Amino acid sequence: MACWARDLPAQTDAGTRQLSHDIFKQLIEINTTDSVGSTTVAAEAMARRLRDAGFPSGDVVVLGPNARKGNMVARLHGTGAHRPVLLIGHLDVVEARRSDWTTDPFQFIEKDGYFYGRGTQDMKSDDAIWITVFMLLKKEGFTPDRDLILALTADEEGGLSNGVDWLLKNHRDLIDAEFVLNSDGGGVNTENGKPVMVSMDASEKLYADFQLTVTNPGGHSSLPVPDNAIYHLANALVRLEHFQFPLELNEVTRTYFQRMASVASGQEAADMRAILRNPPDASASSRLARDPLENATLRTTCVATRLEAGHANNALPQTARANVNCRILPGHTREEVRQALVGVFADPKVEVGYVEHSGRVLDSAPDAMALPPVKLRPEVMDTLDKVAGQMWPGVPVIPTMSTGASDGVYTNAAGLPTYGISGVAIDMDDVRAHGRDERVRVESFYQGVDFYYRYLKALTSGH
Ligand SMILES: [Zn+2]
Repeated sequence: MACWARDLPAQTDAGTRQLSHDIFKQLIEINTTDSVGSTTVAAEAMARRLRDAGFPSGDVVVLGPNARKGNMVARLHGTGAHRPVLLIGHLDVVEARRSDWTTDPFQFIEKDGYFYGRGTQDMKSDDAIWITVFMLLKKEGFTPDRDLILALTADEEGGLSNGVDWLLKNHRDLIDAEFVLNSDGGGVNTENGKPVMVSMDASEKLYADFQLTVTNPGGHSSLPVPDNAIYHLANALVRLEHFQFPLELNEVTRTYFQRMASVASGQEAADMRAILRNPPDASASSRLARDPLENATLRTTCVATRLEAGHANNALPQTARANVNCRILPGHTREEVRQALVGVFADPKVEVGYVEHSGRVLDSAPDAMALPPVKLRPEVMDTLDKVAGQMWPGVPVIPTMSTGASDGVYTNAAGLPTYGISGVAIDMDDVRAHGRDERVRVESFYQGVDFYYRYLKALTSGH
């Protein structure tokens, strides 16, 4: 075990290590890709483990829209002093080809202090941790002060049967909760195994694609006219290049910059403090915005990602198209952003359509999904500060706004505030989720078991 962890009381005894190891191995070796895999097989295997550990059959169910996309829902009953907490994790994994990998991606291999296999980072490690902790709590006869509901689900990475969405639409009663913990987000960020910060995703940006289209009658390229589809589109994109959405902070990003300022030093720390003043310091924010992550935390971003125009070398273009991808701050709608883009381009020839998940392009964007920033609930934050303080003394806990998206999109939209929390440590330069030779440190996995065992107990012990 690494030296920074030596003061820990040994919570993960040999039996617990073996149990969590076996569950992790079992999950990695069940193929749950969208192409040929099945989350049902994994869901049934986990359900069997919980029933064998003493969970009544009625409290562990596997259900889904079809035979291959099953989800497992299990409930550990509490005293009912508070409304339940829902824990979500996805069982599906991204495709992985044997030829791209050094080892077989669907074999659980321990090598040089790491576990290798598809899903070791994203996120069968955390699925295995939750099943292990549920079994431990059951064995101890622990009664939480609220029900703990665990949902292990399908199609987070792709596919058409997202399990969280399906459960919310079809079995809301089964998973309804006061708030949600999603171990697909957050975690311990390490450098060479040494913890730097414990991050908690407390907010997510909203994803949107917009299609810019310019059409023109075209003609022979030997007789050019000023009204050219490519020029209209190119000018619109140059305007976008020079446009910035305004700086806007919410409770989560304010706390992020407050806490980061205590970790950072020099000019960077001073700039983080300066943007928290009212009004925020403009030169400080433009210095911070040179870092892509800080910039994405400060504002909604939109960027050109694809371009397509013309049909022949010797013809004036009849169509020019671009895709603009936006990541929208909580509290704003996609339609608001679409209208902002129309204003930026200031050219009626440039049509701005909204691209649906299916690829269909609509004249306007949905207005409904205006997710407000998630409130930093004291029971969630204080418990995390406490447990992280025991396990990683002196390492700051930092709430973050995820610039990507997870299943939290569905739970947040359904009114269940969602927090991304995980005790698994990953080196910041070793993020291999979705990539080849995915791996997690052996000790990081066992610490992740210890973390959630402590966290769930602390969270639900008589508040
Ligand atoms: Zn994931």
